[in-house]
Amino acid sequence: MALQFPAGLKRQSVKIAQALREEGFLVIISGDPCYGACDLALDLLTYADVLVHFGHTPLLQHPDVIYEPFRVDFDPAVVEKALPLLKGRRIGLVTTVQHTHLLGEVGHRLRSLGYETVITPGEGRTPEPGQVIGCSYGSARIPGATDILFIGTGMFHPLGVQLATGMHVVALDPLTGIAEEPDTRKFLSRRHAVMEKARDAGHYGIIVSRKQGQNRHPLACRLASLSDRAYLVFMDEVSPDELLNLGFAAYVNTACPRLSYDDQKRFPVPVLTPVEFEILCGVRTWDEYRIDEIA
Ligand code: SF4
Repeated sequence: MALQFPAGLKRQSVKIAQALREEGFLVIISGDPCYGACDLALDLLTYADVLVHFGHTPLLQHPDVIYEPFRVDFDPAVVEKALPLLKGRRIGLVTTVQHTHLLGEVGHRLRSLGYETVITPGEGRTPEPGQVIGCSYGSARIPGATDILFIGTGMFHPLGVQLATGMHVVALDPLTGIAEEPDTRKFLSRRHAVMEKARDAGHYGIIVSRKQGQNRHPLACRLASLSDRAYLVFMDEVSPDELLNLGFAAYVNTACPRLSYDDQKRFPVPVLTPVEFEILCGVRTWDEYRIDEIA
């Protein structure tokens, strides 16, 4: 049996491996970086009958892969902390995989307070009801909702929901009880500055991921056709050192969208999203800016 963990859960690997060994399993552990279920260590199936991927819901279907999502409990009554920021009474509920198991109870609580709630059924990259991930916000597109209430930690997902839907979003951290409205202005002005830096680049490297669930080769080809200064660059790990070694003055990232947003400060040169490159090439306007999502 092979075990694969994302960075946040890797420290659990010894404890889990030991428990499985005591049950009689022969266990091996993937020590490579793992960011999501888009990046399964399928090569380990050469040495094991089954791969157990911890932390995420299924994204790539494979008969020999078992997904073991990671859940974090909270008190559903915490939703009352978000009420002062809600603008209407028809509330769309979304969250990340850690908390999807409690979204129904949050909805129940809101309905008992006189609100109408909507939780979209899961599909595609987000198979659980109301689930969002950093590359897919489809469950937040809820026609007729007055507000989208995101339950979870950090501001990346609420910003993504806001930019994907254009709706009023409230972010509630269920562990601290802090509710906030994401401010997209700072985020957009940072992205605008990155685009301006990339505008006069002599050459663009269009990054194509070799990871199964991050590969957008057709999109990369379409983007490359927009500029005779663009070249396709295939990569497994997108690291600052490799981008520096390749020597392009700017890159366009068709791999995990979070690389452009979260890791820009680590990269030596601008790393644009596909939408941002389209704006630079004049085939899309700034008003049509959207968060990058993988269909
Ligand atoms: S592409 Fe990025 S955001 Fe999407 S599942 Fe993979 S690691 Fe997560």
